[in-house]
Amino acid sequence: MPFKSISIDAYITQQKQLHPTIDTLQLKKDVETALNDFHADKKCSCGNDIWVLGSVGKERTCFSCMLGTTPTTNDLEIEGAEYKGFNCRTGRHMDDAPLEELSGYFDDDGFELNPDIAPKPTLCSGCIHDGHPFRGIVCKLFRMGQIGGEEFQCCDFQADK
Ligand SMILES: [Zn+2]
Repeated sequence: MPFKSISIDAYITQQKQLHPTIDTLQLKKDVETALNDFHADKKCSCGNDIWVLGSVGKERTCFSCMLGTTPTTNDLEIEGAEYKGFNCRTGRHMDDAPLEELSGYFDDDGFELNPDIAPKPTLCSGCIHDGHPFRGIVCKLFRMGQIGGEEFQCCDFQADK
């Protein structure tokens, strides 16, 4: 699972050290409201789970839409916001796109995917398929399907000689 958990109290303490004048009662309330929204299944406009810590007192947004990258185990998230998965949704739905523009990647729910925000696992760098013009499409689909998983696995891996 991406993200490193931090308890609400530890987060408040950390913020208090960084910003001594901060209103900790209000901050705690804001964190709890954001966490409640997470549990109420409120999603980012792209369909991803919201990033609670990044959404405190702000619009509810996922990590990727806010920072343009995928979360790692070094990124903090409030304890209890169990990440239910991650995808590469761009926020655009099939039904909203003009037919002549329909190309690229879409998931089963009809959301457009951006494979370029899927991180490239280290395994791929040592594979003969890496960088292959046609093969690469399948590689991207594999990567998108396993984002947030424990360890990337690929049944098509072939070691580069
Ligand atoms: Zn998003």
